[in-house]
Amino acid sequence: MDLEIDLHKNSERQGPGSEKETLQALGFMNLPSDQNLKIADIGCGSGGQTITLAQHTNGLITAVDLVPDFLEELNQKSKMAGVGEKIKTLEASMENLPFEKGYFDIIWSEGAIYNIGFEKGIQKWSEFLKPKGYLSISEITWISHTRPREIEDFWRRECPEITTAANNIKILEDNGYILLGYFHLEETSWIKNYYEPIKSQFSSFLLRNGNSELAGNLVKQYKEEIAMYERFKPYYSYGFYIAQKST
Ligand code: SAH
Repeated sequence: MDLEIDLHKNSERQGPGSEKETLQALGFMNLPSDQNLKIADIGCGSGGQTITLAQHTNGLITAVDLVPDFLEELNQKSKMAGVGEKIKTLEASMENLPFEKGYFDIIWSEGAIYNIGFEKGIQKWSEFLKPKGYLSISEITWISHTRPREIEDFWRRECPEITTAANNIKILEDNGYILLGYFHLEETSWIKNYYEPIKSQFSSFLLRNGNSELAGNLVKQYKEEIAMYERFKPYYSYGFYIAQKST
């Protein structure tokens, strides 16, 4: 875990995504411009999407992550971007959030819900949303109906919950949400915004960790993931699910 953090520190983001797609998801919500919104960004990492949200909404974002180093980076970035007043960071687990019932207008989470599971996350977090509150989640998703065995096995090992958009949408509907929008992340959000910055860290990461076996294994693991993406990108991506609590 410490090595994972070390590898991902000082990166714009800790998962695939982009400013454009964060705004695309935000665009599905009907938000009055004078409303003072309460937003939770769960598993915010160093806050790529948090800053974008702060720049395009009114109100206060509570940005939650388990890792203090990421939150510290986010605090520095938000000050630099002039949105420090709009973001409050909170070190907490997404499994056990210290929020009041019905408090938030929006719950946001990019590339993080897999840590507790899609269904469990959307169920647990529902109580913190106001009636008609919005949910915006990106989650690894099969984007074709069928796929080669090799990639199926890889993702079933890495993230056993991976499924199609249709199945995740049904899970949302079964749990009291109405779907407002769905799209999947484009290739540049994986390659240019996530994998290339990680690749550029590999040699300095190995050096500062004394070329340890564990560090080497982590780099190997990421290289495998990147090679898989290159070969099998027509079959999966992060799906972005934008929904509204029905009551
Ligand atoms: N949203 C960011 C980070 C995604 S990576 C982005 O898209 O760039 C997933 C994040 O979830 C990491 O920052 C990790 O520290 C955080 N995380 C993992 N398990 C968590 C948990 N149980 N509670 C809160 N955050 C968690």
